[in-house]
Amino acid sequence: MRPSQARPISPCRALAWAFLRPAGALSASLLLAAPAWSAEPLALEPIAPGVFVHAGAVDLMSEANAGAIANVGFIVGGEAVAVVDTGGSVAEGRALLAAIRSVTDLPVRYVINTHMHPDHVFGNAAFEEERPQFVGHAKLPRALSARGEHYLRANAALLGPDLTAEIRIVPPDLLVEDRTELDLGGRVIELRAWPTAHTDNDLTVLDRTTGTLFAGDLVFLQHVPSIDGSIKGWLSAVDELAAVPAARVVPGHGPASAPWPAALDDERRYFEAVARDVRAAIAAGSTLQSALGAGAEEERPRWELFGAFHARNVTAAFAELEWE
Ligand SMILES: [Zn+2]
Repeated sequence: MRPSQARPISPCRALAWAFLRPAGALSASLLLAAPAWSAEPLALEPIAPGVFVHAGAVDLMSEANAGAIANVGFIVGGEAVAVVDTGGSVAEGRALLAAIRSVTDLPVRYVINTHMHPDHVFGNAAFEEERPQFVGHAKLPRALSARGEHYLRANAALLGPDLTAEIRIVPPDLLVEDRTELDLGGRVIELRAWPTAHTDNDLTVLDRTTGTLFAGDLVFLQHVPSIDGSIKGWLSAVDELAAVPAARVVPGHGPASAPWPAALDDERRYFEAVARDVRAAIAAGSTLQSALGAGAEEERPRWELFGAFHARNVTAAFAELEWE
């Protein structure tokens, strides 16, 4: 990546630490198959025929993990590849591309972003030379133009200057208003744009061939959900998502895949607990400040990163439910 730079912890070394962890025999063989000129490939888990996922660390973005905290993956068709999310840095995106090239030489025809958050879109620039179509929710361009610069500034302190310097916001050029099908050559994937839930620009990808649903951050496992849209909208989306005819899901955070629709149970329980306690606090005339300490505390031991996101979720829910 940047061999000329001598830093105590180079991005390249950090990537190696982050990605070169044991992930099964196939991943080991994929690593060995990588071309010498490429970045170190991300460790992959083959979760279904032609579907590969790198499970991100359940953590906050940092220089040590190179922003690789979200699940990213790709689907290989008869003629082309579709990438689903590109990771939290260009370095991670490059490592994902190297992993793809260790599996197939087919062109990357589509790079799909499931939503606007940095850990899902900051790797986009690594794919520009492949000349794919960048695909996103119809509201994604507006969200990226409103928040992109803020995301770069806010994450610079976490990622460090080297990883941050090469990140550019790459907006989608193919927009999904409702539903769209993309053909990878004998393999059709279905894209669906959702009403406001995790964010106002959530997009899911269903691989019909294997019944694999890439849910983006509409599904969290292990990592406590973060509400950047609407708790009521997300609960509605959970009900609708349950009807999606899939066998497995790739959550935005958590394991590489999980059985479907059972993977929805944890976040549904969490949102119902938050909504219940926030509504009770509002009905009792409590202030937001007192609601912050009381909401859904029984959920704390069931999630990772609870302390980093839960109070923010209660705040978002309070602001939304106060006026219903
Ligand atoms: Zn997100």
